[in-house]
Amino acid sequence: PYAAIGVEVNVDYVTAVAVDLSGERLLSWRRSFSGAAVTSAQAVATVAAIVRRVGSRMAKEERQVLGLTVGVPGLVGTDGTVRIAPNLGWRDADLCGDLTKALRDPGYPVQVDNDANLAALAEHRFGPRAGTANLVYLTGEIGVGAGVILDGRLRRGGRGYGGEIGHIQLDPFGTECRCGRLGCLEAVAGIGAVLEHAALSPAEVEIELDEVVRLAHAADLHTLTVLAAVGRNLGKGVAMIANLLNPEVVILGGYYVPLAPWLLPAVEAEMRGRTIAPDAGGCEVVASTLGYGAAALGGAARVLDSVDSGRLPRM
Ligand code: BGC
Ligand code: ZN
Repeated sequence: PYAAIGVEVNVDYVTAVAVDLSGERLLSWRRSFSGAAVTSAQAVATVAAIVRRVGSRMAKEERQVLGLTVGVPGLVGTDGTVRIAPNLGWRDADLCGDLTKALRDPGYPVQVDNDANLAALAEHRFGPRAGTANLVYLTGEIGVGAGVILDGRLRRGGRGYGGEIGHIQLDPFGTECRCGRLGCLEAVAGIGAVLEHAALSPAEVEIELDEVVRLAHAADLHTLTVLAAVGRNLGKGVAMIANLLNPEVVILGGYYVPLAPWLLPAVEAEMRGRTIAPDAGGCEVVASTLGYGAAALGGAARVLDSVDSGRLPRM
């Protein structure tokens, strides 16, 4: 039997998953970081160590590892180089080359991709809306990015940098974004905006998010106001997606999921006001059900896609 590995390196955590050919999870793994962001060298060492451990577990089960795909929160060129990862402070990191070297023995094929792209692949292969021809996945991480599937295929654009909706300016007077520009969508509609306005620290996102959810359930006025404002900003972004691409569904993922009950009404109101097509072009907005590991799962999906299409050999 075979196994495919997916890994996601994000600003505040690393997750890994191994699946069989049918996508059944064989094991998953998660570690949170707090404090300083990882350097690309640390990421290579961490990912290589995890992958070795996963690999030896797979070997014990007599499974052959077909390869791995690593998702990162940034712009990945067609050669697997991470050109810019704004929230990690990386530029031109040859993650694919360095990981391939670090994993020379056992020699697994390595691919690197944008986190939102991979999460969209996971939804398209394994999610409740699997097979939907036109689907956009919107990551609610520290950063915001889109994975765009049109006519059944993931679209990366000419150099692989498409889907960077997080860095479209929504507010010329808005908060400074980690990319250096002002009022980018992710600066005014990302999870950082929720935590900042709720006066919580973005260092321990998951813990702080639980607190936001608790306050929202308790109908805390300040929290509800912050969520409504962030939801409206998010809705502006989703309306742009609907006007530009007319997808059947936009899936909100990552940290947006636990906040969806409060964000969605504001998103839907903005959609109604800002889309030109009747009924927002039939675009539904839903929360992901794949959990925080969607990009890692999508990494495994990309390995399976590569095998299906003959780009990776089944040895
Ligand atoms: C990055 C994207 C990424 C998104 C989500 C943004 O800041 O520019 O490439 O997909 O964050 O992690
Ligand atoms: Zn930006």
